[in-house]
Amino acid sequence: MAKRRPRHYIASMDFLISHEGVLRLGVFAALLAAFIMLETLLPRKARVMPRARRWLTNFAIVGVDTVLLRLIFPLAAAGTAVWANQAGFGLFNLVALPLWLTIVVTVIVLDALIYVQHIIFHRVPIFWAMHKVHHTDRDLDVTSALRFHPAEIIVSMLYKLACVALLGVPVAAVIIFEILLNGTAMFNHANLRLPLWLDKALRIVLVTPDMHRVHHSVIPKETNSNYGFCLPWWDRLFRTYRAQPEAGHEGMIVGLKPHQDERPANLLWSLALPFRRMK
Ligand SMILES: [Zn+2]
Repeated sequence: MAKRRPRHYIASMDFLISHEGVLRLGVFAALLAAFIMLETLLPRKARVMPRARRWLTNFAIVGVDTVLLRLIFPLAAAGTAVWANQAGFGLFNLVALPLWLTIVVTVIVLDALIYVQHIIFHRVPIFWAMHKVHHTDRDLDVTSALRFHPAEIIVSMLYKLACVALLGVPVAAVIIFEILLNGTAMFNHANLRLPLWLDKALRIVLVTPDMHRVHHSVIPKETNSNYGFCLPWWDRLFRTYRAQPEAGHEGMIVGLKPHQDERPANLLWSLALPFRRMK
């Protein structure tokens, strides 16, 4: 049941699919440069550690993640979407929605599923062991969005592949969602001072840096709030929303209580952390 679509529409989706790698890398590099510049001009919070060592470690971690993902899942989420589409597998392949609507619904549903995954990563000890590497970063900035342990990246990819297959998401929608999620994660980890009115307005549709910073507080009840990455609605809906940190953004301590020292800036320590015996 081929659906008729305007030619320019098909052309833009084809362009998206055939230039996936370049688009991803381009958006990543552009946002990274933009946020680094904005963080220098409009910082929200004073750093507690020198930037160089943290950055070296965070960039090394994302390097390891990227190589691993390419080796283990060469086709990744977009490849699974192609397969599901050809096999007619998954929810979206059973119902005939217009493509634009499928893309909008996909982004919203996948974002909700990532919210659920994030809660699981906080509540289940074996997953928390992986996810806490992200939380040990003692300063938050755009590079914190890159700091996910390879084990977490692999589990996340398996989870995403399962979601994409079960939903039968179109390839273009997966690519759009992944670029959007990476972009919003970089935005909401950035050490950025937005005017309060702008933060308030953006929070209607987007997780802002001030909102996500609460999630990186050392205070457990704050760590266990604001799980959203892109849309702020899930936290409000499921009552995990916390508007501001108790100690204020300047006064709050970022990271995890047992690791308020130099170790989180060390690459080998960070990679070994999940395998250390939990107390
Ligand atoms: Zn978290």
